[in-house]
Amino acid sequence: MGRQAGRGRNRQTKRQAQAGSSRLKQAQVIHTQMASSSSAQSFLKVSSRSLLDGDLSARKLHQLVVAAEDAGARGADRLTKAGKRGKHQQNLHRDMMRSVMKQSAWRPGVYQGQLTTMAKDKTIAKGRWPFILPHEVLSQIMEENPVWLKEVQPNSSSGYGFVAASTQDIATEFKLDVSQCVPLGLHADGVPYTAKMRDNLYCVSWNFAGCSSSSRFLITCVPGSAMVKEKTFDDIWKLVAWSFRCMMQGTWPSRKDDGSPFGTSRADALRHQKSGSPLRPHGCFVQLRGDWEFFRDGVRLPAWNKSDYMCWRCQANGQTKRDLSPEGPCLSQPLSGFQFLERELRSGRQLSAFWGIPGARVGHVRIDWMHTIDLGVSALVLGNVMSEYLDVVPGNNQAERLAEVWRRVRLYYSENHVENRIQKLTLGMFRPRGEGYIFSGKAKETANLVPWASKVATELAGPPGEHWHSVMCMLECLQTLYGQLQEDPYPTDQAKSVCERFLLLYSGLMSEAERAGKQHAWMYRPKLHLMQELLVKCVQEWGNPKQYWCYRDEDALRWLSKAGVRRGGAATAYGIADVVINNLLAATSVSVVIN
Ligand SMILES: [Zn+2]
Repeated sequence: MGRQAGRGRNRQTKRQAQAGSSRLKQAQVIHTQMASSSSAQSFLKVSSRSLLDGDLSARKLHQLVVAAEDAGARGADRLTKAGKRGKHQQNLHRDMMRSVMKQSAWRPGVYQGQLTTMAKDKTIAKGRWPFILPHEVLSQIMEENPVWLKEVQPNSSSGYGFVAASTQDIATEFKLDVSQCVPLGLHADGVPYTAKMRDNLYCVSWNFAGCSSSSRFLITCVPGSAMVKEKTFDDIWKLVAWSFRCMMQGTWPSRKDDGSPFGTSRADALRHQKSGSPLRPHGCFVQLRGDWEFFRDGVRLPAWNKSDYMCWRCQANGQTKRDLSPEGPCLSQPLSGFQFLERELRSGRQLSAFWGIPGARVGHVRIDWMHTIDLGVSALVLGNVMSEYLDVVPGNNQAERLAEVWRRVRLYYSENHVENRIQKLTLGMFRPRGEGYIFSGKAKETANLVPWASKVATELAGPPGEHWHSVMCMLECLQTLYGQLQEDPYPTDQAKSVCERFLLLYSGLMSEAERAGKQHAWMYRPKLHLMQELLVKCVQEWGNPKQYWCYRDEDALRWLSKAGVRRGGAATAYGIADVVINNLLAATSVSVVIN
């Protein structure tokens, strides 16, 4: 006993020494803890890696390891035994994954919850579903890296003052010791994952809200084709709410989320052992990130195209939304979180189970810069500038003029050493058929073309009051807003006035196009309203938008989407989620997780 405790202490000291303060931020890659010195272990490691990465199908890998064993290789007998040594081919993938999972550092591991999904034949049913529980992961990370506790707790001087204040509010509300509280954010979004990208994988994850560059930790994922939108999300939120309640109470649960006893699996046996013992730290929910589509489908916030009301932060509706001035609904008819929920209940709408997460408030829903500005307003401005530029550059026909615009974009790229470039320029990329002008590129590609659009407008600008002069001034505002993201502290008051000027100029161009009967030019888009909410109102409280934007989440999603392309095993929705979750648990270590 004594010797074991001594070894435990040594391990602890060693870990503390290893966990440098910069490690969390430097965590950019996926590491495995399957390091070994012997060739036998190395053989097992390489074979396991091939299965996890999907380099080889389960059948092919099994043939290889059996052949290698016959030739004298040692170490992979756990894999060769799979599917009764290959007799039951249908069990190969399952059995090999099980033996790989035994090497995972995560304890207890996968949790079997319940989820409502739709099968391929459109039948809807509630059945078992794999989850990775936030309270289990957080507790293990902090147990093994106790020095990180301070690092993931924000203070008012770190620029995360609002996160610190929200954490304090929750600590007060739930009577918790704030030094044991860690603010957490939640994120959800879909990412194309099949070989032909025909389906999305919806991923729900959590992260440390006081450290925007921290790792993202998956909770679960569901193929888009299997989602029964509100029902599926409600089931997820109920389970997430239970996990957060365990963290608030500070005790390991003694039963499953639905009140039933733990099962007989190895993971459930571990859970049973821990039940009733103290659970630290207290993970506090303070932030929800995602795009508008997810807020509508996942949390039942109003949609952008609703005529009665389209915003959860003000009374804007179909009639008033186009007024982007300070007299418009955003500033003159604001809505508190309680007023919003009251409005929903009065309208007879059912609230999302999301609000069952302890401490969850409407004010925790973050408006994301990447979706709102880069992919929203900047794409809108760029689409219009490109479209109007196309009509003024030299060329005998549209094809020649398009080639000229593209030549000038490339020239700008090379002269300014621009990264994240578009690889081609077609008419459909900024003049979608029958729709308003909008540029369709990736977020960073779009943002990187804003200075180019500004240069174009400056070249063409006439005297004040002239069309291109207004476009130039508007683009100057947009560029200033981008520049402010790099300022510390974030200049909230300047952001407000620059955004107001931007919206005033955009509204002017909108009216001008309407008067001239230009159907697709300078159209109203709801993202303009969200931009106003974000930069005129929200940043006053939340601070710099880059502290809660979705760029990091998107990086993590890309990694998960690769893990979703499975080889071998049944391609059911459950099977896909199971393989992603098992891959993640097997491939990541406790000390360094995905970025
Ligand atoms: Zn609003």
